[in-house]
Amino acid sequence: MPLPEVRERWRAQGSRVCEIPGCVCTAEPVVPAERKLPRVGIKSSEAALAEYNDHRAKVLSEVDRNDFASHLLMGDFYYPPASKLTRWLVQLSCGDVKEEVSRSYGSPPYESSVERRASSDMLRRGYRECWEQGHDPDRTYYRTILMYLGSEDITLPVRDDDYLPESMKRLTPTPAKAWKVRLCCGHVITQTVEDLDWLPEMGTTENSKWTEARAEDQRGRLAEIKDSMSRWSYEYHLRRIASKDHDPDVEEFCMSCEYSRPIVAYENLGPLVPPPKPPPVKRSPRKAALEKRLFALELEAQRLREQLAPAEGTT
Ligand SMILES: [Zn+2]
Ligand SMILES: [Zn+2]
Ligand SMILES: [Zn+2]
Repeated sequence: MPLPEVRERWRAQGSRVCEIPGCVCTAEPVVPAERKLPRVGIKSSEAALAEYNDHRAKVLSEVDRNDFASHLLMGDFYYPPASKLTRWLVQLSCGDVKEEVSRSYGSPPYESSVERRASSDMLRRGYRECWEQGHDPDRTYYRTILMYLGSEDITLPVRDDDYLPESMKRLTPTPAKAWKVRLCCGHVITQTVEDLDWLPEMGTTENSKWTEARAEDQRGRLAEIKDSMSRWSYEYHLRRIASKDHDPDVEEFCMSCEYSRPIVAYENLGPLVPPPKPPPVKRSPRKAALEKRLFALELEAQRLREQLAPAEGTT
């Protein structure tokens, strides 16, 4: 289906509102504080400069010298000369402190977006990646689908691993639609829909095989494995059951959000190329000699005053 048509129909329907408790899209934005941050594992300014210059030289050596436009783009836009950069420390909500450089005249790190390492997705503005397991176990990474952007035909492969319950197996390749969807966090992901005739304006419908007995069974099974699940995954499955297993799902897991945390504090470490130190003040030999003489005279004056003091007291 052509993209404008999908957008038009979806707009006519009105997009959804995110109702996930504590979702990043409705949370108060984090206002990072400027403060001194711990220096553990932070490079010296010389090492940071050398590392940047080495990396820049390597990147530029791989760009065709005759391709002037690419050279300019890489050497000026993506990897500008070190003299144009400022060093920062940023602290994420999980406590990690990371080092960054950004353009001195550009926005500070908490106002900019960076690419996710595993893809070309941009993270949310002011968010950075943390890959440490267990650093943020209680946050939810399910997001509400706010918009359908378009679809393409795909074929789902056979899935018959022994460990799968019968209901989850697929014994023959099955045609389906891959819908590009925009989530409430702003990221675009793919949602697979097996009903080839389904359109966004149809909305989601409850599973035709849904019964209260089935819901009870699912709740029971969920309770059994609750302790081995993260809180957000457990709550997501509860919402699924409450929505009578709606199809297609109104929520999807966002991998771009999963390992990203907001910047909560920052520190400006100054230019990547430190300004030259002022030369030490050289004192002329004559000045040094005069200072020495003055010091001796002051000592002498002090001594004389002390001699004079008792004599004055007796008159
Ligand atoms: Zn949301
Ligand atoms: Zn972390
Ligand atoms: Zn996201």
